[in-house]
Amino acid sequence: MPNDHKPEIGSTIVIQKETFNAILSRLKEKGYETIGPRVKNDTLIYAPIEQMDDLPRGYITEQDAARFHLKHTGHSRYFDAIPGAQSWKQFLFPPRAELFALRKVNNLWEASTPETKTPSYAFIGVRACELAAIQIQDNIFMRSDFNDPIYRARRERVFILTVDCMYPAGTCFCVSMETGPRVKAGFDLNLTELEDVFLLTVGSEIARDLLKGIPFELASAFLLRNADQGLERAASQMGRKLDISNLPDLILNNLDHPHWQEVGARCLSCTNCTQVCPTCFCWDATDEMSLDGKETHRERVWDSCFNPGYSYQAGGNTRPTIRSRYRQWLSHKLGTWKQQNGTLGCVGCGRCITWCPAEIDLTKEIPMLQEEAR
Ligand code: SF4
Ligand code: SF4
Repeated sequence: MPNDHKPEIGSTIVIQKETFNAILSRLKEKGYETIGPRVKNDTLIYAPIEQMDDLPRGYITEQDAARFHLKHTGHSRYFDAIPGAQSWKQFLFPPRAELFALRKVNNLWEASTPETKTPSYAFIGVRACELAAIQIQDNIFMRSDFNDPIYRARRERVFILTVDCMYPAGTCFCVSMETGPRVKAGFDLNLTELEDVFLLTVGSEIARDLLKGIPFELASAFLLRNADQGLERAASQMGRKLDISNLPDLILNNLDHPHWQEVGARCLSCTNCTQVCPTCFCWDATDEMSLDGKETHRERVWDSCFNPGYSYQAGGNTRPTIRSRYRQWLSHKLGTWKQQNGTLGCVGCGRCITWCPAEIDLTKEIPMLQEEAR
């Protein structure tokens, strides 16, 4: 039925799928740049979307160690394809960002900060693990003792439309990391896709306003049960699992274990795992000087603990071997991160497994340590 009233926060409504176009239009009217999953060059990227037809309807992704295959099956659902290498971090923590510029005027250096307009993004189709990753990065960039102005300005403007994961990929293990497949909190609007309709759970006042006048019904007990069953099935179909009960102690008590040498011999130190990981946040600052020496720009660029230069300090490199760099990555993710931030640094998205060319898989490396520690 047509409604002029707005659904309550916490309520779950049902809409016809084509109505979603009106929600995208409203987001754009409110000034949001709507970003969602799109098919490009046989993979999935996050890019501007104008309408539902831009979404990967009828696609799934098949994923395994060092393997990603986008497959068109012809089904009628829009949100079944598990994302590719890209994550939402590129929008909140951009790969390159100018911090300031210095210009020489009358032999004096004048500093200026870039006058860039902060974008207002509406993220369409954020998975439960990805929302958990955003919340982990919130703890990094918006701490009580440190506030990153670039991240905060973008984060405070973002509208988040999450989507429950009904068909996990072969490298997913969000159940083990307790981050999915059901989205629990921290969204503006959560979407559960059923065969013929979308269920929308309202999470914020902005979302309530957005839905004013949109035709909706409250979701029936039958549809809610349908959604629950789909999510229970998804939870039972995770491609990977990881026992985290003895983390971080397992890693921190085994820093000299010979297994690090074995993994280090296979790792190429290519940095793929850190670039695709939605929680990794290492960065470096670079200066670009004009040829006449009168202007310089300082940029922040993504870096990686796998780059030898990242751990170079006065006096030498503290992690000169690939073994030590891999160990640093994993022992931070699943070890010291917890001491620093209260949670582990992994959300179980599986990207580092899919995109590692050497087929290194943390859900196999950790059990090897566990096995030998028994
Ligand atoms: S460590 Fe791997 S599985 Fe965990 S969040 Fe990062 S990319 Fe995803
Ligand atoms: S673990 Fe894999 S993805 Fe990561 S640096 Fe090593 S080879 Fe590259």
